Amino acid sequence: MLKANQNYLKLPGSYLFSTIAKKVASYKEANPDRTVISLGIGDVTQPLSPAIIKSLHDAVDEMGAKETFKGYAPDLGYDFLRKAIAENDYKKRGCDIAEDEIFVSDGAKSDSGNIQEIFDENCKIAVCDPVYPVYVDSNVMAGRTGTYDADSERWSDVIYMPCTAENNFVPDFPEKTPDIIYICSPNNPTGTAMSKADLQKWVDYAREHGSVIIYDAAYEAYISEDDVPHSIYECSGARTCAIEIHSFSKNAGFTGTRLGYTVVPKDLKDAEGTALHGLWARRHGTKFNGAPYIQQKAGAAVYTPEGQAEIKALVSYYMENAKTIKDGLKDAGYTVYGGVNAPYIWLATPDNMKSWDFFDRLLQDANVVGTPGSGFGPSGEGYFRLTAFGTHENTIEAMRRIKEL
Ligand code: PLP
Repeated sequence: MLKANQNYLKLPGSYLFSTIAKKVASYKEANPDRTVISLGIGDVTQPLSPAIIKSLHDAVDEMGAKETFKGYAPDLGYDFLRKAIAENDYKKRGCDIAEDEIFVSDGAKSDSGNIQEIFDENCKIAVCDPVYPVYVDSNVMAGRTGTYDADSERWSDVIYMPCTAENNFVPDFPEKTPDIIYICSPNNPTGTAMSKADLQKWVDYAREHGSVIIYDAAYEAYISEDDVPHSIYECSGARTCAIEIHSFSKNAGFTGTRLGYTVVPKDLKDAEGTALHGLWARRHGTKFNGAPYIQQKAGAAVYTPEGQAEIKALVSYYMENAKTIKDGLKDAGYTVYGGVNAPYIWLATPDNMKSWDFFDRLLQDANVVGTPGSGFGPSGEGYFRLTAFGTHENTIEAMRRIKEL
């Protein structure tokens, strides 16, 4: 008898950003004269930089010539890109990561959603709350999260680690010991980042308890403070307990181009001594088509001197928006967090307003779209996220409107 995967049916509602898109679409339909500014979804707005465009063109030309045409890409990524990643993202930072521990992919969403497949279905996961929704949802699909309680908006088998103003958005160690711990720093949605000392404590905890940390470093390029690590492998002992996920989306504007990578060190083993590196390699080889040659060439351009200068300028552009939002909200009397090491500003809703009520108010009265904090987890209630990924013009205009509320 044909039966749909019952785990999928357990997922409550639709994906957060689809819900927002629907609400905004119906508002626009009802109010065609209004100009709505979106500071909601974390998508970039600036075009790819010249060094990347040139590399894309060159790669297309190579594909059209007999001598340089490429067929299937190597499962784990082209050597030229893995070498550039190992050199620039790790060796230069004093991290001991080899080229063959790097798995090139089409981005951090698929890697952060798929990586749980290499762990036993009974492994217990811990997530920061609020958190990027993919971590929990992909574990729901894998049948690892137990039952959902709509009142508390929690899964019975998920360990939630609240991150609020009370603990400076750094999770406390949970009462129950998790097997898999998801940490995203700089964080989406709170825009805050863990110091190296705080992250080292988590690495020590994971080693002591035999847990693995899945470290999402998608926003690493936005770090501006010296005591915030760019990689978990800057912490001692992380090679034995951490997987790190990277994206080219936010540093270089690849949200439409698609490229990312994941590091699984060979020293990372389960309790029985099975190396997880081999499992992820097997999974990649069997179920992943590989990132296209053209994209990988574009990714390599990111690491050239021109590419580095250009993406730095891109990050500065967005961080100027972060400052505009942060300063503007503060002037308007809001309590704000983030926006220093990340392109997200996390604000406390005024008068303890519910996150979705504030969403409606902002949409209707200021025609600005943001993201309700509760959409990222129960502890996000009472908070709201604005992104710095808009254009300067739209960001300034959005702040003008919010100040007039
Ligand atoms: N990880 C986090 C924490 C994110 O916020 C996002 C996108 O918003 C991603 C991963 C997805 O990255 P990619 O575009 O590489 O799939």
